[in-house]
Order: sequence, then structure tokens, then C-alpha cells
Amino acid sequence: MSNLEAEVVICGAGIAGIAVAYKLAVKRGVKNVVLLEQDAPLSLTSDKSTECYRNWWPVKPPERPGDAGTHGPDGAMIALMNRSIERLEQIARESDDRIGLGRRGYLYATAEAGKVPVLLEAAENAARMGAGPLRVHDGKGGSYAPAPAHGFEGQPDGADLITDKALIRRHFPYLAEDTVAVLHARRAGWFSAQQLGMWMLEQARAHGVRLVQGRVTGVQTTAGRVSAVEARREDGSAFTVRTPCFVNAAGPMQKAVGQMLGVEIPVFAELHLKMSFPEHLGVVPREAPMLIWADEVRLPWSPEEQEMLAEEPSTRWLLEPFPPGVHCRPDGHGESNTLIVLYNYHLEPLEPRFPLPIDPHYADVALRGMARMIPGLGRYFEKAPKPWIDGGYYVKTRENRPLIGPLGVEGAYVVGALSGFGVMAACAAGELLAAHILGDPLPEYAPAFSLERYRDPEYLRALERFGDGAQL
Ligand SMILES: Cc1cc2nc3c(=O)[nH]c(=O)nc-3n(C[C@H](O)[C@H](O)[C@H](O)COP(=O)(O)OP(=O)(O)OC[C@H]3O[C@@H](n4cnc5c(N)ncnc54)[C@H](O)[C@@H]3O)c2cc1C
Repeated sequence: MSNLEAEVVICGAGIAGIAVAYKLAVKRGVKNVVLLEQDAPLSLTSDKSTECYRNWWPVKPPERPGDAGTHGPDGAMIALMNRSIERLEQIARESDDRIGLGRRGYLYATAEAGKVPVLLEAAENAARMGAGPLRVHDGKGGSYAPAPAHGFEGQPDGADLITDKALIRRHFPYLAEDTVAVLHARRAGWFSAQQLGMWMLEQARAHGVRLVQGRVTGVQTTAGRVSAVEARREDGSAFTVRTPCFVNAAGPMQKAVGQMLGVEIPVFAELHLKMSFPEHLGVVPREAPMLIWADEVRLPWSPEEQEMLAEEPSTRWLLEPFPPGVHCRPDGHGESNTLIVLYNYHLEPLEPRFPLPIDPHYADVALRGMARMIPGLGRYFEKAPKPWIDGGYYVKTRENRPLIGPLGVEGAYVVGALSGFGVMAACAAGELLAAHILGDPLPEYAPAFSLERYRDPEYLRALERFGDGAQL
């Protein structure tokens, strides 16, 4: 058994653990940081994401005057994302845009006139809480500026709500003809999360961070505080790292790693899959934004298919309505014709297990769901190109806010519950956790993400006021 020493040990080299290491070593000069990773960095969840970002968090109005602050449901998320996006923009500038940061926005579309006031209210509340102004285009004035295909500088923030059908058709002719409104959130888009992770990791290693292969198997405490981390290499040999500071950044395993310290982390996991395929017919323009259908969907089956599906109890569910939220975006540069499609219709909590349990109907359901929004995709029903399917787990708290802060045992911290927003939140999350570790002044939103919040009876009472954060 060999032994190491470190000022800080981080368990997990996903985007969250790497962001903490980067902040500690590169930005704050901490000398002896060890990143303990059982596998290859970024290879479990962080390289499976759709790589999108948004500061668009529909919020609820304050219950009482003065209740809003940045902590109301869910101004804290807007503040965290605004900070994280600010850092993404800085990194894009510093790195000669190695992360390929774009800003085409998220386009939510609906065919239900009744949804328009809901979108309007959500956007007005988000604007009040710092997401940027709302511009309404209802045919009575105001000019809509489409997003450029590349780059992020000089773009509007906030959102455009378009109810003028002629304007919708002019800019988005590929959407279903019965679309009555689109909401275009503008401080949003995508980037290479893999490059972001590698860029931060390279910088962190250049500043002394050691990436050590090993699976954390235990955390020792002495007199109630962290004193050492136990780990095992691939060849089975054990080692320990003496340290006063341990960070749980174990992604889908964060609950199990918390239990090593006797701490119950209040999270659950959902399986989220995504599929991509060569969209060689060019139905979705390569310069399209992220496209999200905000309505329930009945999958478009032919009468013969309907009859066949209805016969089998195991396939009847495919005829039921599917939830809102199917979404897609073009991926890649140059000659690429890849389209990524996601539809998460089975979201019951489950124990993370690998390899992922993949629904054999997933690609078909995702493609048909997406065709409700973009009918041209129906051209692939007969002869769909072979899809690539992967995914991972969203680890979530019940109100879908992350956990960033002390873990309740002296010297132990968590950066987790990053749900479906972990790559976009990584920079701000890493920065916030480093501030906790170093005793730096904390931003105003820090209490909204601490584990401590669940000890506050007021907070527990307010939990039902949180929506799902428009989680995709
Ligand atoms: C299909 C899908 C789409 C998504 N789309 C987006 C998106 O568009 N935008 C966005 O912001 N987010 C998105 N997400 C969410 C995002 O990918 C995650 O929130 C983020 O990757 C979580 O990062 P992490 O570092 O916490 O976890 P991980 O990337 O899972 O890293 C945890 C690491 O800890 C290691 N580990 C665990 N246990 C141990 C142990 N005992 N010892 C040593 N190492 C250990 C693991 O091997 C792993 O490498 C998506 C997720 C999925 C699944």
C-alpha cells in the first residue's frame, strides 16, 4: 500500500470535480490537490450531455412582497447560471474559443393557444429575476432579431415571445403549421463541454493538480473531521491519501460516497437517454437553435401501426399521450449532418446502474415525438438511418437545485445534484465550492444550494412552490 498526502482530495473527475480542481489550483493557487478518478476523466456522464446552456429558468411570482430576492423559486438558479455563463464567455475569449461557444438560443414552441399566457407570465417573472427583458412580437410592432449561427458576442439576452404566425413561418418554416407561439430564450445555446473539461483539466494539471487513478472506497475521520481517503486501483491494490479536505464530486455515485461519511445526501436519479443520427435529408437547418416542443404528443403512427401496437399489451403504451419536452439540435461543424434528439418520457427514480438500461423503442419514440414539432422528420419513418443512443443519470434534489457546500462533517464537501444542468453550471459551481473550502466571501445565492437549507422549516414549507425548472 502506498500513501499520499494532499491539501484537498476530490472524488470524481467529471466536469464538477474538474471545475473545483481548476478553481482551487489555477485561480486560487492551492498547491496540493488530488483528483481521484476510477475511470477516464469526463467519461461517465459529462461527455454524454447535450452540451447546452441557458439562463432561462421560468420562475414563479413571489408569494409575499419581498419574498422574491434571488432566492425565490427560482431566481437563485438564474443568478447561478448567469455567473456560470459569464465564466463560459470569459473562457471562450481566453482560449481562442476552444469551447466553440454559440448562442442560438432555446426555442420553445406550442400549438396550444392556452399556453401563450403561461409562457408570457413565466417570461415576465424570469425577466424580473434577472434573466433579461421580454420582447413580445404579436404583429403590432417590435422587431425580432434572429440568432447568428456562430459566436456569442453582442447578442440580446432575455427572451422573444412570437405570436405573429407570419413571423414564425418566416423564421422557422420547418415547424408544424399549427404552431401558435414560440418563445426564444436568448442567453442560451451550446458549446463543447468536453473541450471545456479538458481545458480546465490541462490548466489544473499545469498548476500542480494530480490526477490519480483509483476508486474511493472509504473516508476516514479523526475527532469528527476528515483525515484520510481510502482508495483502490484497477489492479486491486489499496492506498490512502492523508488529507483534511474531501470533496464528493462522484456524480451518479454521490449518494454512496456520502454514505462513506455517514451522510445521507437527499438526491435521486433519473435515466436520461439521447439519440443522434445522420439527418441527411436536411429537414432541420444546420443553423437552427435548440428546438423544444412544449406540448404533449401523440406519436404519429399509421392506422396499420396503431392496430398492431394496440394488439400487444406490451406496446399499447406507445399509443398514449407522451409528455411535453421532446427536443433536438443540430450537432457538429462543416459537413456534419448529425441531429441530436432527446425525449425523456420515463422518469421514475431508479438506482444508477451501468451499462444503462436502454428502452428498445427509444429511437423510434424520440424521432416520432420530434416529428410532431418538425413534420419533415416524418420522411425518416420508413427508413430511419441507424441511430446512436447513449445517455446517463440526472442526479436531482426534489426541488431540482444543486448541492454545493459543506457536507456536515468537518472538512467534507459536496458538489452534486447537478441534474440536467451540470455542464452549464460547472464553472459557477466549482467557483462556489472553492469559496466554501477556502472560507472566501460567498455570493448571495450560496445558501440556496447548501445542504443546510433542508434544516430550515420555512424552506421545507416553500418546496412545493418550485416548478421543475423547465428541466429538459
Ligand atoms: C442525456 C443527458 C443530457 C444532458 N444534457 C445537458 C445539457 O445540455 N447541459 C447541461 O448543462 N447538462 C446536461 N446534462 C447533465 C450533465 O451531463 C451532468 O449534470 C454533469 O455531467 C454531471 O457532472 P458530474 O461531474 O457531477 O458527474 P460525472 O460526469 O458522472 O462525474 C462523476 C465522476 O465521479 C467518478 N466516481 C464516482 N464514484 C467514484 C469513486 N468511488 N471513486 C472515484 N471516482 C468515482 C465517476 O467515474 C465519474 O467520472 C445532461 C445529462 C445527460 C445524461
